[in-house]
Amino acid sequence: MNVGKVYLVGAGPGDPGLITVKGLDLLRRAEVVVHDRLIPHELLRECRADAEIIDAGKAQHDHRIPQPQINALLVEKAQAGKLVVRLKGGDPFVFGRGGEEGLFCHAAGIPFEVVPGVSSAIAAPAYAGIPVTDRTLASAFTVLTGHENPNKPESAIDYPAIAAAARAGTLVLLMGVTYLPQIIAELLKAGIDGAKPAACIEAGTTPDQRVIVGTVDTIVGLAQAAQVGSPALFVIGDVVNLRAQGLDWHTP
Ligand code: SAH
Repeated sequence: MNVGKVYLVGAGPGDPGLITVKGLDLLRRAEVVVHDRLIPHELLRECRADAEIIDAGKAQHDHRIPQPQINALLVEKAQAGKLVVRLKGGDPFVFGRGGEEGLFCHAAGIPFEVVPGVSSAIAAPAYAGIPVTDRTLASAFTVLTGHENPNKPESAIDYPAIAAAARAGTLVLLMGVTYLPQIIAELLKAGIDGAKPAACIEAGTTPDQRVIVGTVDTIVGLAQAAQVGSPALFVIGDVVNLRAQGLDWHTP
């Protein structure tokens, strides 16, 4: 039997209209779709009636299908000759383990392609009226993960470097809801300006989008008071002010 192929497809950040033309075309043709929890579920209506749809969605403490099993599943389905779409939230290579899945396919001799997606790191700020760069305010942006406790000795994040990056541009923190207080404390220790504008965007690009604006000093309390839940990201930088200056195109 001919070997199939695995497509690592970005589903975009939440608004189903933000999948790419190429991604949608593949989704419509796929024989097997293995999707994450954080995808626009409306997109699954686009699948073939006979497509096998597998929910590999992972809640934080309830890994429904462990990553090694997802990798094995992709390979197994492709070895059976199937056109496999691995549908991932945002972009597959931005904190999406798409690299691991591609390497696993490579090691197994399975052809694969990557279809980039619109990452929440850029799109959620955009729907909140916050450009991640601006000619006069931010000439760089840094995207970091907050999924690990900074108090763990093995924490891989270099907070002094991140605080320095915040002086040069915008910070976008993904997966930061749980450890936000510790992360902000580390950034303040590393010298970030507590008065810097900060925003939290929950469920960005969806009808449930919520945006909370404050400063580095106030954002932890504001996010806690608003009971911000997943998915949410945080933006730190002067660009946050542009929202109130007329860029908030999305709030009705
Ligand atoms: N590959 C994805 C990111 C996966 S990590 C991408 O490119 O967007 C998951 C994290 O992304 C979440 O914890 C959250 O911080 C962020 N995220 C994903 N979708 C989001 C959304 N609609 N609004 C706000 N943050 C989102």
